[in-house]
Amino acid sequence: MSQETADYAQPLTVLAEDELIFRDSVREFADARVRPLVREMDEQAKIPRSLVDQLFELGVMGIEVPEAYGGSGGRFFHSVLAVEELSRVDPSVGVLVDVQNTLVINALLRWGSDDVKRRYLPKMAAAMVGAYALSEAGSGSDAFALTSRAREEGDGFRLTGRKLWITNGNEADLFIVFATIDPAAGYRGITAFLVERGAAGFTVGKKEDKLGIRASSTCELILEDCRVPRANVLGEIGKGYKVAIETLNEGRIGIGAQMLGLARGALEHAIQYTKERKQFGRSIAEFQGVQFQIARAAVEVEAAKLAVYNAARLRDAGRPFLTEAAICKILSSEVAESVSSLAVNLFGGNGFVKDYPVEKLFRDAKIGQIYEGTSNLQLQTIAKQVLG
Ligand SMILES: Cc1cc2nc3c(=O)[nH]c(=O)nc-3n(C[C@H](O)[C@H](O)[C@H](O)COP(=O)(O)OP(=O)(O)OC[C@H]3O[C@@H](n4cnc5c(N)ncnc54)[C@H](O)[C@@H]3O)c2cc1C
Repeated sequence: MSQETADYAQPLTVLAEDELIFRDSVREFADARVRPLVREMDEQAKIPRSLVDQLFELGVMGIEVPEAYGGSGGRFFHSVLAVEELSRVDPSVGVLVDVQNTLVINALLRWGSDDVKRRYLPKMAAAMVGAYALSEAGSGSDAFALTSRAREEGDGFRLTGRKLWITNGNEADLFIVFATIDPAAGYRGITAFLVERGAAGFTVGKKEDKLGIRASSTCELILEDCRVPRANVLGEIGKGYKVAIETLNEGRIGIGAQMLGLARGALEHAIQYTKERKQFGRSIAEFQGVQFQIARAAVEVEAAKLAVYNAARLRDAGRPFLTEAAICKILSSEVAESVSSLAVNLFGGNGFVKDYPVEKLFRDAKIGQIYEGTSNLQLQTIAKQVLG
């Protein structure tokens, strides 16, 4: 970088050489390998293992895992780019990659002991899918009201309880499970445990039948006296609340990226379709009424992109990003809903049927305002900052 340019902050949306190459490789993959499967995956409510394997081969399942552990050695911003590009084609594939990187690997890198990193990071970069299990039937927004219980026994713990809504439940081999060692201690009892599929007393239960992101598995987890060795406590005992909050603060930027990608995908479909579709003797994109709707959608998408990239770049720069993460999630999820809704309108009757791609994106958009903190919870974070 020359002295001249080094004196100025770079534009948010200009990508560094490595970011550009990475983004293009994920974009190509999404168009060539994911797009042909989108409808079938939605109908069958399943992501085939062969596609998951290809995501590992592409290097997007261990983006921030250091190269020494077999990962891609990237930054958080690379994860955001991957989630955005995959979600432009299929937000279900986007969230699989998002949970793997921005929640599970992120937590392992930040809170894992050297032993945990040595045992799990090479597997996470090679073939192991992760899941993040905080929510329960009685504790969603009020996450720290969780009741799953961990009782100390010998050199480990026994976990009992039920987790609900766990993304990647069907594909995952490693679960970060939050449970309390002392319900009387409130949030100070919460502890994060690493539980492997196949552990005695651990079962993946019912898979939810959902409105959108249908191919992404969302499952119940059942823990019945499930034994977890002490070496599989992630972070400190009684400090799991920190693991949960701090990981989710970053995860939220990933959901912002998912919704940004979805909105871009919907807008691209709308642009292509309105240029091709003819009414009154011309393409409907020639009508100013349609042009202005598309222009407004482009404004919304750009605003969402700036918010997501800003939050991600702040995070990588080690600067505070909490409010910006909340802003990017709420904005992008609202933009995803409005742009995908417009796309349905602009496709006319074709927008309402499954032969065309936009009704699915419209269904997929709704989840952005619910998971990893509902929009009201994001507003709470933003209000705290602006009202002091
Ligand atoms: C598809 C899907 C995937 C998910 N994946 C995961 C996962 O991988 N891991 C995981 O742990 N969880 C996951 N979740 C759970 C998700 O994070 C919760 O559903 C979410 O946090 C909301 O909790 P809730 O469903 O209990 O709703 P509630 O907390 O009951 O909220 C209901 C409504 O009340 C509002 N509300 C609640 N409290 C307040 C308040 N204080 N002020 C104002 N309004 C409020 C909310 O905004 C919302 O509109 C997933 C959920 C879904 C649907």
